Amino acid sequence: MLEIQNLHAKIDNKEILRGINLTVKPGEIHAIMGPNGSGKSTLASVLAGSEVFEVSDGSAAFYGKDLLDMAPEDRAREGLFYSFQYPVEIPGVSMVNFMRTSVNEHRKYNNLKPYTASEFLKLMREKKKLVEIDSNLTNRSVNEGFSGGEKKKNEIFQMAMLQPKVAILDETDSGLDIDALRIVANGVNKLKSKDTATIIITHYQRLLDYIVPDHVHVLHNGRIVKSAGKELALELEEKGYEWIKKEFED
Ligand code: ADP
Ligand code: MG
Ligand code: MG
Repeated sequence: MLEIQNLHAKIDNKEILRGINLTVKPGEIHAIMGPNGSGKSTLASVLAGSEVFEVSDGSAAFYGKDLLDMAPEDRAREGLFYSFQYPVEIPGVSMVNFMRTSVNEHRKYNNLKPYTASEFLKLMREKKKLVEIDSNLTNRSVNEGFSGGEKKKNEIFQMAMLQPKVAILDETDSGLDIDALRIVANGVNKLKSKDTATIIITHYQRLLDYIVPDHVHVLHNGRIVKSAGKELALELEEKGYEWIKKEFED
């Protein structure tokens, strides 16, 4: 469903991604780990369509379509979801209205009838329950004044509402207390299906205790230098990144 080949991206002539190869199939959970500054968020941003970075080589295909050629909103409408490391606040726009617009835009793009108000509210009730989000959060402005944990839970709620094919979660676990971590992880697990995939960017094994990845990749200096099964995350937890840095010094 997602095929990334030799992806290079730079900013201000500084190359951040230096040849990423990654294949994601339906039903899979991939974890991307790696030291700070290795390019994890950059990879996610480039896939989501950030114009801050210039793609200088390589390709990314999403169900056979050239992802890099699509506008960011079309990537989202095709079913790519990116949960930002730092979710933005949108004062004056309530979560309810924001979600109704987003969901119906996605439906329109995919030739589906927009939800009526009551259909939409029903969907919202269902998904709120699924991700255990407080009622009052959805009546407030998007992320405005939300705590770190509430923002992250809200990201999972948005993901539940939009039902993406591929979700990229960028450090969705950072800043979460144990209960919020469990809620976020449960949400991701409940949304898992044989047709959807999740890419989780994380520094910590603790999230992967709840969400068990099929593949773990280590990003270092803009390249995936190691890929293995879930045991790699445990090894990193135990040994840190120094050995990776040493082994792949250049
Ligand atoms: P990670 O998410 O793995 O911690 P990032 O992808 O955020 O790493 O950053 C990778 C590198 O790209 C870092 O050296 C960072 O300073 C640089 N970088 C990211 N965004 C920008 C930007 N907007 N302007 C300049 N440099 C950036
Ligand atoms: Mg970082
Ligand atoms: Mg990051």
